[in-house]
Amino acid sequence: MNAAKVLEDLKRRFPNEPEYHQAVEEVLGTIEEEYNKHPEFDKVNLIERLCIPDRVYQFRVTWMDDKGNIQTNMGYRVQHNNAIGPYKGGIRFHSSVNLGILKFLAFEQTFKNSLTTLPMGGGKGGSDFSPRGKSNAEVMRFCQAFMLELWRHIGPETDVPAGDIGVGGREVGYMFGMYKKLTREFSGVLTGKGREFGGSLIRPEATGYGNIYFLLEMLKTRNIDIKGKTCLVSGSGNVAQYTVEKLIQLGAKVVTMSDSDGYIYDPDGIDREKLDYIMELKNLYRGRIREYAEKYGCKYVAGARPWNEKADIALPSATQNEINGDDAKALVANGVFAVSEGANMPSTPEAIRVFQDAKILYAPGKAANAGGVSVSGLEMTQNSIKLSWSQEEVDEKLKSIMKNIHEACVKYGTEPDGYINYVKGANVAGFMKVANAMMAQGIV
Ligand code: NDP
Repeated sequence: MNAAKVLEDLKRRFPNEPEYHQAVEEVLGTIEEEYNKHPEFDKVNLIERLCIPDRVYQFRVTWMDDKGNIQTNMGYRVQHNNAIGPYKGGIRFHSSVNLGILKFLAFEQTFKNSLTTLPMGGGKGGSDFSPRGKSNAEVMRFCQAFMLELWRHIGPETDVPAGDIGVGGREVGYMFGMYKKLTREFSGVLTGKGREFGGSLIRPEATGYGNIYFLLEMLKTRNIDIKGKTCLVSGSGNVAQYTVEKLIQLGAKVVTMSDSDGYIYDPDGIDREKLDYIMELKNLYRGRIREYAEKYGCKYVAGARPWNEKADIALPSATQNEINGDDAKALVANGVFAVSEGANMPSTPEAIRVFQDAKILYAPGKAANAGGVSVSGLEMTQNSIKLSWSQEEVDEKLKSIMKNIHEACVKYGTEPDGYINYVKGANVAGFMKVANAMMAQGIV
C-alpha cells in the first residue's frame, strides 16, 4: 500500500469530509509498515475495504416542537465494519453532526472495538439535532421520530447503538422504548440503558473510569504516582464527570472543567461536593459551567479551552480537535507529562506531533476511552445471558480490559529508544485483528 495514494483517492471520492480524512491519515501513517509486510492484504485491496464503510444510512427526521411547528433534522447510521462482531458504536446528537464526522467516528470505532478484545464491529450514528434548550417532551418526540427510521437497520445481532455527545440515559431510554414498540421485542438492541431494563452497572462511569485506569498503566511505566497530581479536564458531560470522580477518588487535584461556552479554573480543586453540584447542574438542570464559577467564586474564561493552565496531566473529554498545535505546546511548556484522551480525536495531528516529539505519555482516544464501549460489550453479554453482574464484577473486568489494551499498545508501539508510541501501538494492534478476520471471510 502507498498510504499517500490511498488517502488522495479517498479525498477525491469523498470530498468535504475533513475529519474522516484526518482519522484515516493518522491510522494509515502508522500501519503502513506492518501492512506492507503482508502482500496478501494488498492483493485483495484490504485497505480500501477497511477505510470505506460497509454502508451508510441517511434519512430525514421530522418532529413537532412544543409550539406545534414542524422541524426537520438529518439522521445517519454508518455501519463501518462487522468483521469481528455486530456493528457497535454510539449515537451523537449535536448541531455540528454531519456525515464526515460520523464516518471518522465509525472508522475509529472499528479499531477501538477490536482493541477491547470483545467481539464488536464498528459503527456510529447521529443527528444534527441539538438537545440544548429543548424540553423533555421535545427530546422524547425527536428520539421517537429518529428511531422510527433507524429501527429497520439495527438489531441485537446486527448493529447495537449506544450514547455519545448529547445522548445519555434519557435519550437511550426513549429510543429503546420506540424500538421495543415497533419490533414487539425486548432485546439488547441499545446499550447504556437504564438499570431497570437491561443496563449494566458501571456503564455511565465506564469511559471516564477506563481512561483513568489506562492513565494509571501509563504512569506505571515511569513509576509516577497519580496522588497529588494536578489535572486539566475539558468537558463537563458524561466522560468528564466520571473522569473527575475517579481522579478525586485517587487523590489527584482537578482544576478545570468546561463546556462549549468556556471553562472554569478552580485552584483549590474540584472536590466531591463540587462535582455533585456539577452533576446536578449538567444532568438535571442542563445548566452552563459558568454557574460553577459564580457559585464557588473562581475564574471563568468565556470562549476558551483550559490548555493554558499549569498542570501535570491533561484529560481532554469534550470533543474532536479541541487541542491544536499551539495548545499542545502550551501544555508541554507548562509541565504536562501525560495526556490521556477521553474524547475521540481531541488532538489535531500537529498536537500529537508536539506530544510525541516531547516524549511525554500520550494515549489516543481509541485506546484510552475504550472503556465505554467495553462495558457496552459487557452489557450485551449480560443481556444475552439474561443476568446482571455486580458493580465489582464489571469494574474488575473493565480494569482488566484497560490493562490488556495498554499491553497491546506496548507490544506494537514500543520504539527502539524505549518510547511507547501509543498511537502506533493502538492502530497496529486494532488493525491486525480486523485484517485477519477480513482475510478469513473472503471478499465480501
Ligand atoms: P456529553 O454530551 O455528555 O458531554 C460533552 C461535553 O463536551 C459537554 O460538556 C459539551 O458542552 C462539550 N462539548 C461538546 N461539543 C463541544 C464543542 N464543539 N466544543 C466545546 N465543547 C463541546 O458527551 P460525552 O461526555 O459522552 O462525550 C465526550 C467525548 O467523549 C466525545 O468526543 C465522545 O465521542 C467521547 N466518548 C464518549 C463515550 C461515552 O461513553 N459517552 C465513549 C467514548 C468516547 P455543552 O454542554 O456546552 O454541549
